[in-house]
Amino acid sequence: MAKRDYYEVLGVERGASEAELKKAYRRLAMKYHPDRNPGDKASEEKFKEANEAYEVLSDPSKRAAYDQYGHAGVDPNMGGGGGFGGANFSDIFGDVFSDFFGGGRSSSRGGAQRGSDLRYTLELDLEDAVRGTTVTIRVPTLVACKACDGSGAKKGTSPVTCTTCGGIGQVRMQQGFFSVQQTCPRCHGSGKMITDPCGSCHGHGRVEEHKTLSVKVPAGVDTGDRIRLAGEGEAGVHGGPAGDLYVVVNVREHPIFQRDGKHLYCEVPISFADAALGGELEVPTLDGRVKLKIPEGTQTGKLFRLRGKGVTPVRGGVPGDLLCRIAVETPVNLTKRQRELLEEFRSTLQGDSAHSPKASGWFEGVKRFFGDV
Ligand SMILES: [Zn+2]
Ligand SMILES: [Zn+2]
Repeated sequence: MAKRDYYEVLGVERGASEAELKKAYRRLAMKYHPDRNPGDKASEEKFKEANEAYEVLSDPSKRAAYDQYGHAGVDPNMGGGGGFGGANFSDIFGDVFSDFFGGGRSSSRGGAQRGSDLRYTLELDLEDAVRGTTVTIRVPTLVACKACDGSGAKKGTSPVTCTTCGGIGQVRMQQGFFSVQQTCPRCHGSGKMITDPCGSCHGHGRVEEHKTLSVKVPAGVDTGDRIRLAGEGEAGVHGGPAGDLYVVVNVREHPIFQRDGKHLYCEVPISFADAALGGELEVPTLDGRVKLKIPEGTQTGKLFRLRGKGVTPVRGGVPGDLLCRIAVETPVNLTKRQRELLEEFRSTLQGDSAHSPKASGWFEGVKRFFGDV
């Protein structure tokens, strides 16, 4: 299949700036990320395509090659470069995301790289989200290997200068008509290589571990809010700083209350006798039951506002309200006596529109609609 033009893939002009490219890529990556589209092949393809386009266009030398020679200029199958979508992929994505989250990424000096940011989805009940809580979470992460202090080299040995790049971390590769500077495939840019790898981490310098963290969740959080735990992400590579852990809140559905920002909604079913005669109801709030007076003639859909019984926003401000929506319930499973009473009640309504203004208005409207006056 013919490849689409990289600028077209990202939806930018040929002269797009670095910032424009990044913005366009970020938007596509967010949209088509496999985590957001599990099992969706088309999204996965789009995601890969955007990755490939961004990887080429974000690198000035590759972009220049692409601009001049098209896809042939950057074909990973020509010359010895690594393929797309594999090893480089998490780096690009991590970079975009750390920016997106507002964290800076230190440049890789001497192969030191900042660890990736991690994301953890925290499921909370509405009550906990509204009142705040402290939870203990267990997160899988990469930590610096204790056996080698993160160097990746066996204890007593140290990494030596890479023989492929001479310690520069970059090599010049001949690709078709021109040569490009590339990250050294042997040391991956660190300039050092490990001849005697550590047995515990196999030379990676990091090992996978689960760590237990206590997270203080402030009162008023809502779905999508993030709590940043600085330095609790993956360990850095070769002495680089650790990434951050972002705890992303997801508030579970509540059996009684629906939340919309700082306001809460709940449906209150009442008997049609109560609706007609008025009365006092008990309605639930997050702080327990309260009494609610309803006037006679209350209709389905009527909203009663209980001020301040909603949620106090996490960023401060006045608390929201609780809105109770009345749902008048038609009685079912009538006894003989109840049926008699209702039959009698119905007979009193015949031809008297004063008791059901909505219904009479509706019938008038229908009549007019059919021109049957
Ligand atoms: Zn090297
Ligand atoms: Zn080790």
